[in-house]
Amino acid sequence: MFNGRPDFSPRGRARVFLLTSIGTLVCIAVAFAFDSYSFEEGWRWGGNPINNVIIPLVLAPPLFFVLLSKLRELAIAHQELLLISATDSLTSCFNRRAFTALVDGYLEKLEGREREGALLVIDVDHFKSVNDTYGHDRGDEALKLIADGIKGAVRDTDIVGRMGGEEFSVFLPATPPGLMKLVAERIRLAVTELEFVPEGKPHALSVSVGGAAFRFKTTFADLYRRADKRLYEAKRNGRNQLEFDLSLYERPPAALAS
Ligand code: GH3
Ligand code: MG
Ligand code: MG
Repeated sequence: MFNGRPDFSPRGRARVFLLTSIGTLVCIAVAFAFDSYSFEEGWRWGGNPINNVIIPLVLAPPLFFVLLSKLRELAIAHQELLLISATDSLTSCFNRRAFTALVDGYLEKLEGREREGALLVIDVDHFKSVNDTYGHDRGDEALKLIADGIKGAVRDTDIVGRMGGEEFSVFLPATPPGLMKLVAERIRLAVTELEFVPEGKPHALSVSVGGAAFRFKTTFADLYRRADKRLYEAKRNGRNQLEFDLSLYERPPAALAS
């Protein structure tokens, strides 16, 4: 049981009990059928109706239960492995591979339909100086702090990935440009408000953000390229800033190419 509802997924206990019960009933039915059919006389009432219930009732439940519990453990372990392989170990965000696959999968499902959404690319400003001043371990702490700050600033439906080094990305499904700008600003502000105090001295953290909104058919690679271009514009403009590309929202890709 989970949240008051039985869990019949391969990882659920309810599935073990349900399949054990069904398996036991099937064993009883088979025992009855076996006992009640004779090649000479055809169907008749079996000679041992009590045994046909008692023997399967004693043997089948523990057998099914052990077997199904092992299968459940395997399903749980498999899911944990999938999660580990998709997660960045330092920040617990999706790693680049999993993030890219998730976003590409989402964009593919929108095939033929108009939908809106956005991708943000976030790069920590002057992060090398954190490592150079306080060492790599404090740098790692800052990265964890920043990842938590980003996760705290986005909605439950948004996907946060660490693309490598001190670069993060956030995919915002079903989000119009106005809301994309709002979320990006919340992220920027959240990072500036983080309390990073290595060696007792407060160190100000900030990020630059590039965003690309879409309403027409696109790919992760195209969105990322556009958002990344804007990110470097934000860097050039002095960092701790936001820049956005709305071209895939305003015009279909065909119109952009011509
Ligand atoms: P900019 O504002 O232009 O982005 O400057 P920057 O210093 O952030 O950029 P740069 O690319 O020069 O440096 C990125 C640094 O991030 C260099 C690298 O040592 C550090 N870094 C990358 N991955 C990790 C990590 O996992 N842990 C730590 N502690 N540092 C990392
Ligand atoms: Mg940087
Ligand atoms: Mg970088």
